[in-house]
Amino acid sequence: AHIQNKIAAGEVVERPSSIVKEIVENSLDAHSTVIEVFIKNSGMESIKVVDNGRGIDYEDRTLLFERHATSKIDTAYELFEIRSLGFRGEALASIGAVAKVTLESMREDSTPFKIVYAGGKYDEDTVWHERRGTIIEIEDLFFNTPARLKYIKNLRTEAGKIIDIMQRMALNYPNVSFRLVFDGKDRFKTTGNGNLKEVINILYGIQVSSNTLEVQAESPDYKIEGYIVRPEVTRSNRNYINLSINHRHVRHFKLSESIINAYHTLQPKEKYPLAFLNITMDPKLIDVNVHPSKVEVKLSKETELLKLTERAVKEALMETEL
Ligand code: ADP
Ligand code: MG
Repeated sequence: AHIQNKIAAGEVVERPSSIVKEIVENSLDAHSTVIEVFIKNSGMESIKVVDNGRGIDYEDRTLLFERHATSKIDTAYELFEIRSLGFRGEALASIGAVAKVTLESMREDSTPFKIVYAGGKYDEDTVWHERRGTIIEIEDLFFNTPARLKYIKNLRTEAGKIIDIMQRMALNYPNVSFRLVFDGKDRFKTTGNGNLKEVINILYGIQVSSNTLEVQAESPDYKIEGYIVRPEVTRSNRNYINLSINHRHVRHFKLSESIINAYHTLQPKEKYPLAFLNITMDPKLIDVNVHPSKVEVKLSKETELLKLTERAVKEALMETEL
């Protein structure tokens, strides 16, 4: 089974940033409200995540690294209908196949435990925890997969990707406090008070001001909420459009374009806005054929959504022109 795990690992955990994403998603699935991420050497040396979520049952400790061992659901064909972020039971199995994993956890009414999983073997330790939650540390990434190790060439790029993923998490979950630490230095920390505007401010250093405009619109099928920031106060390029659907980060070219186009009908064409929009919709409007790990999505009733988005952005801009 271990060899099989090693082969399949490439899909879910191709680089440090994808591991960070999977681990933090597990913390979110466990309903954590505080998630701290400590990175050493762009994740190649260590990725450590500390959460205050519901913890793992003592009885489950040896199942964690089994492929398809998930406590969440059995079958899933419609990604966005699934309330939890993980459901395939693949992440820990894949990570355990390419790194050393130390995991400590405590769940209410269960025994706290600590396990070290490396090279397909378990080691156990007894520990004492006063609080609920999970600490997971991933070390010596890709120690046994030299080809993968070679592929991670630029550590600065990796660090950038980790920041990117953590920022998106913080934007999509304003009521969770995220902290990101690189080699002992704090990179950012959000408060988890639910205020998206504050998160934007913390992440991008944008002063909460008249340049941050609230966007809001609703149609029978869609609800759009979020902020658009005028570039006077910031760097300006077309890549700062952050979209999420039902709080899951997505990429959608036409939707990004409709935001930029709406913006350009009222603002200088050479400037691009920052946008942070969450769209709420019935999961059935999202194409089911989209692969779970992909962030690209297809939507039915796309035209309706594009029109609504354009209108919402224009309205937000016009209100402040008065
Ligand atoms: P999946 O998330 O798809 O279920 P994973 O391999 O990511 O699969 O995780 C396996 C299982 O380990 C999860 O289903 C969950 O029960 C447990 N788990 C992992 N991380 C945490 C955590 N931080 N808090 C609570 N449970 C966790
Ligand atoms: Mg998971």
